[in-house]
Amino acid sequence: MFNPLPKLTFREKAGALACTNAPDPEAPTTACEAPADWHIAWTLTPGAAWFSLACTPCMDEILRHNVFTDRHPARPECDLPGTGWETAATPSYCVWTTTN
Ligand SMILES: [Zn+2]
Ligand SMILES: [Zn+2]
Repeated sequence: MFNPLPKLTFREKAGALACTNAPDPEAPTTACEAPADWHIAWTLTPGAAWFSLACTPCMDEILRHNVFTDRHPARPECDLPGTGWETAATPSYCVWTTTN
């Protein structure tokens, strides 16, 4: 069965995905914004799923101090709306979904 992807508009990115970690506890709303290497799933609970992007130095800090559910190398798809976290593979990855 042919199941075409929805028409997608790709956003032009000036650079790589940016790290959304806020490394400075004095400025918790200031993101690191270094190129992101990792996509982190803090929780995959339906309705409460929470994700972020992290560069390698921030990922190292997160590994030392935080508990997360899953992670995989950041790819352009990770930052697109309407993607889903595919856990059936190792490592997991983000895919466009047609179900909401
Ligand atoms: Zn960072
Ligand atoms: Zn991803």
